[in-house]
Amino acid sequence: MARPRIVTVCNQKGGVGKTTTAINLGAALAERGLRILLVDCDPQANATSGLGIRPKGLEASIYDVVVLGRPLLEVAIPITQVPGLTLVPSTVGLAGAELELAELPLRESRLRLALDGLSDFDYVLLDTPPSLGLLTVNCLVAADAMLIPLQCEYYALEGLTLLTHTQSLVRQSLNPALRLAGIVLTLFDPRTVLSSQVVAEVRRQFGDQAFATVIPRSVRVSEAPSHGLPITQYDPTGRGALAYRALAEELLARNSQVAA
Ligand code: ADP
Ligand code: MG
Repeated sequence: MARPRIVTVCNQKGGVGKTTTAINLGAALAERGLRILLVDCDPQANATSGLGIRPKGLEASIYDVVVLGRPLLEVAIPITQVPGLTLVPSTVGLAGAELELAELPLRESRLRLALDGLSDFDYVLLDTPPSLGLLTVNCLVAADAMLIPLQCEYYALEGLTLLTHTQSLVRQSLNPALRLAGIVLTLFDPRTVLSSQVVAEVRRQFGDQAFATVIPRSVRVSEAPSHGLPITQYDPTGRGALAYRALAEELLARNSQVAA
C-alpha cells in the first residue's frame, strides 16, 4: 500500500493559525474521503483539546512515541465526530521531551522512524510547537513538505528567514527531500488595509508558493475548538469552512502535480 504524504504545519511564531489549520485542513481532507492522521506535536495540546479530547485524561500520547519508542498506532485515537480523522494526541508532559530527546540516540529522527511503514493513511499532518526546538526538527525531518501559515499582520514575514534557514539545514543533513507545500495566509480581515497589504507583499515575494486561498478571520473559526469540532462541522457553510475546503483542494492539486 502507498505511503502517506506527510505535511508539517510550521511557523515558530505562536498564534498564526498552525493548530487551526492542522485541524480544519485535516477535517476538510477527511470530509473528501481521505484517511487523515493528525499528530499533535505541541505540548500545549491545542489540536488534541480542539478535537474534544481532554489531554489530562490520556493514558498515552506522542510523548510515549518519540521518547519511549511506543508504536504510534497504539496511541492513536479515532475522532468519532469526524469520520476519517485519527489523532495522535499530545499532553503537557511533552514539554519535557525537548530536553529528554537531546540525550537520546537519533534524536532528530525519532518521529520519522515512528511514522515509517505507516500505510493506512493518505495524509499525515503534523502540528508543531511555536519554536524551532527538537520537536519541530523531528517534524521537519519526518515530513515531505512544510505548510507555513502566516498571519495577516505587520510582522508576518519576520522570522520566515529563520524558518527557511532551518529548512535548508534539515535538507542538507537529515531530509534532503523536504519541500515547501506552500504558504497560507490566515486571519485575513477584509476591513483592514493592512491585511490586504500583507497578502500583496507575500504574493510579491513568494508568488505561487503562497496558496490562492486566504483564510478569513472568523469568530466561528475561533469558537469551533471549544465545541470539539472542526469548522467544517461547527459551521459547515460558513466562510471558514469554505476556505479550508478550498485550501484542501489546492493542496491536493499541487500534490498531484508533484507526483506526476
Ligand atoms: P498557533 O497554533 O499557530 O499558535 P492557533 O491556530 O492556535 O495558532 O490560532 C491562534 C488563535 O487564533 C486561536 O485562538 C485561534 O482560535 C484563533 N484563530 C486562528 N485562526 C482563526 C481564524 N481564521 N479566525 C478567527 N480566529 C482564528
Ligand atoms: Mg498551535
